[in-house]
Amino acid sequence: MGPDAHTTIVGVIGQPVRHSLSPMLHNTAFAALDLNWTSVAFEVAAGQAAAALEGMRALGIAGLSVTMPHKAAVAEFVDERSAIVTALGAANCVVNREGTLRGENTDGGGFLASLDRAAAFAPAGKRCLVIGAGGAARAVALALADAGASSVAVLNRTAARAAEVAAVVGAAGRVAQAGDPAEVGQADLVVNATPVGMNEAAAADGSDWLVPPMLLHQGQVVVDLVYAPRPTPWLAAAGAVGATTVDGLGMLVHQAAAQLELWTGLPAPVDLMWQAAVAHGGV
Ligand code: NAP
Repeated sequence: MGPDAHTTIVGVIGQPVRHSLSPMLHNTAFAALDLNWTSVAFEVAAGQAAAALEGMRALGIAGLSVTMPHKAAVAEFVDERSAIVTALGAANCVVNREGTLRGENTDGGGFLASLDRAAAFAPAGKRCLVIGAGGAARAVALALADAGASSVAVLNRTAARAAEVAAVVGAAGRVAQAGDPAEVGQADLVVNATPVGMNEAAAADGSDWLVPPMLLHQGQVVVDLVYAPRPTPWLAAAGAVGATTVDGLGMLVHQAAAQLELWTGLPAPVDLMWQAAVAHGGV
């Protein structure tokens, strides 16, 4: 059955957005739940997020998934925001409740769910090292702290940005000392939230990787948020030294599942969404 006059519309906004797996993941779930809902991609230029939200309200679009470059602008222009959106200054999801637009952020929760599923890792009392200081690093670092991590150290090429993330995290947050092997060796969890793990050339000498895999070891859980390729060269190297490795596909699936639950109020068919992500190029 295709869309009809009663179909509830949700979508993803971003630029570029055509590569996004969100519509496919959400449509897979809507079909499984037998809901007359559909998700589409809206190419929205930078600076147009406020106009897109007005369009959402006027058209009665029930929910939006939000990707680059709109996460900060959406957080600013929604009517209400969750505590996480306020802390991060970024929203990856909008829920339309009878014209009131609420900003949510499911990235951190999706990350924690994927860690639990892939490695049965619970952050409470654990030492965590997050590499990167962009939007993904921020969401992950805050989620780890909120889940009770004893410390969340942030390592970034641009140290000033690492300090900003550490400040968002609160008492558990601090800036990691670059080049200190103990910083890496003592971590229970190491998360790469930069694109650099994809770089094959860097694998030759490890010089471009802020954390050379030879500093990692068995007993650690190591995550690369990048999911294409699966695994990245950096994550493969981490696995080769004995670390338990987790790629970014689980975070992608679980953050999308959490969005669907916010929009519909129903439990998401996570396993089906997972299978669909693997089948559609999340490999
Ligand atoms: P972003 O805001 O652009 O941040 C990128 C970060 O990577 C910055 O900290 C930047 O350092 C660092 N970086 C970039 N190139 C570098 C290099 N050559 N050497 C050292 N550091 C470098 O990006 P983001 O939105 O946070 O996303 C980060 C990564 O996570 C992306 O690769 C994205 O694909 C992935 N991600 C995955 C998911 C998922 O669901 N699995 C969700 C979100 C993001 P500076 O501060 O020094 O510039």
